[in-house]
Amino acid sequence: MDDGDALTATTSLCPDCLEEVPGRYEQQEDGVFLTRECPTHGTTSRKIWGSIDHWEWAADFGPDPEHDGGDLTVDDDHACLAVVEVTTDCNLSCSYCFASSAPGGEHRSTAEIETLLDTVADAGGRPIQFSGGEPTVRNDLPELVERARDRGIDHVEVNTNGIRLATDPGYVDVLADAGVTAIYLQFDGLTSESYERIREIDLLEEKLAAIEACRAAALPVVLVPTVVPGVNDHEMGDIVRFALENRDIVRSVNFQPVAHFGRYERNDGRFAIDDATRSLAEQIDTLEPRDMLPAPCCSAYCQIGTAFVPRDADPGGDTECGAARDDDSDCGCGDPSRETDTSTSPDVDSFVPLTQYVDDRLWGILSGMVDEGDYMELLAGTAAGEEWACKTAGCCGIDVPGSVEGLFDEIVPVSFTGFMDADAADVNRLSNCCLSVPTADGELVPFCGYNMTTEDGEYALRNRKGWGGRSTVDEPPVEGESTTGYRNDGTIPDGGHGPDDRTEER
Ligand code: SF4
Ligand code: SF4
Repeated sequence: MDDGDALTATTSLCPDCLEEVPGRYEQQEDGVFLTRECPTHGTTSRKIWGSIDHWEWAADFGPDPEHDGGDLTVDDDHACLAVVEVTTDCNLSCSYCFASSAPGGEHRSTAEIETLLDTVADAGGRPIQFSGGEPTVRNDLPELVERARDRGIDHVEVNTNGIRLATDPGYVDVLADAGVTAIYLQFDGLTSESYERIREIDLLEEKLAAIEACRAAALPVVLVPTVVPGVNDHEMGDIVRFALENRDIVRSVNFQPVAHFGRYERNDGRFAIDDATRSLAEQIDTLEPRDMLPAPCCSAYCQIGTAFVPRDADPGGDTECGAARDDDSDCGCGDPSRETDTSTSPDVDSFVPLTQYVDDRLWGILSGMVDEGDYMELLAGTAAGEEWACKTAGCCGIDVPGSVEGLFDEIVPVSFTGFMDADAADVNRLSNCCLSVPTADGELVPFCGYNMTTEDGEYALRNRKGWGGRSTVDEPPVEGESTTGYRNDGTIPDGGHGPDDRTEER
């Protein structure tokens, strides 16, 4: 047991049983550890943040929530998004999968999904993601989308590995026609090796083909890389550059550093989002780590992001550059020493983080429209998908000023989500969660709490609170070919998706 310097006290969960126990954040060397004592399982101390300086800086942004002692639920008007699981089946069996899905999983019954959609609709029609497992292995996914839209849910994303989008001609059009508004695409990098190591199959061609299919159907894409240190973290800069090059259809990037949910290799190294941010900044000349701002609606340690903006964007409307300095000595988009060599890829490298774009003069321009606090909230609210989610849902009080709203067509938000596994379990963070899972009992519950697993692979919180879903992390139920015609041996059969011929639903 280390005796680091105590920072703050909190209520945590024991990683062995997920029972509430007293916890405290401690500085140990340069990092931040969460230490807790369970009367049954003893003391645990895990590193959860890479730098004490960054930890203290981030703390100033987020709310300082305290769990009120009630049941952990997400307030209707606080939920940016609701994740609706429709199956545990998948056409892959990835090395890392928070849902621990694999070929041979089960579909949720349509009746149960309709109940979950009713929960979301009753909460005001929050934006949703159909998730799994792999939702596209259900042939009735378009009908499920229609049932969501019929309930007044206007923003419907599909969370997918993209295989069916790439291999089933016309499928993306079917999804778009049904009412899907964006594809949340698993996208781990631009090399075959990253897919082979994380997904156990080279999927690069399929990912690129899926994006082309979405482009043809004019269906926006959010790139969602799972980031595993030592495996694909060196590709983060290239992923951002790829997003900027394809910004006509790629609307944002949401990096998800691997967390210890579901199926994962133990002891493979937590990747704190401040460490991930520093790594990304090393790969993008125009980015500084503190350009990535904590989102304001959840804990400061849940999500950080920025948005890349063309240098010549002009929200002020009366200058060559809206961020120009008063003495016209420089464009004001940032310290000239930070400007990049644009000779190699002038289009992409001419993007800068929005935080650098905003200088004193632009603050002045904006001050007549919105106060600084609101504008900072706007900036922070550009974390992937949230700017649309918030605009759609009207949540979080973000009121986008008219002349700034035009920027949304130009910017590419880039964010990190630091999902909270049992190692990092903090009840105060959970109590302010804004990413929800609907239950059949009509509640929205925190995504991280729903998916948190014990050391033994039990979904202990969802079991204890009756939130539904599988009770334990199962081993892949079937080796080899899935029930939907995909293979899990490194090949994809001709015809791709195959028939969904199951008659039984759980
Ligand atoms: S594609 Fe991989 S990560 Fe996604 S549900 Fe399937 S097994 Fe899990
Ligand atoms: S899902 Fe997890 S990381 Fe995201 S806001 Fe909720 S508690 Fe935070």
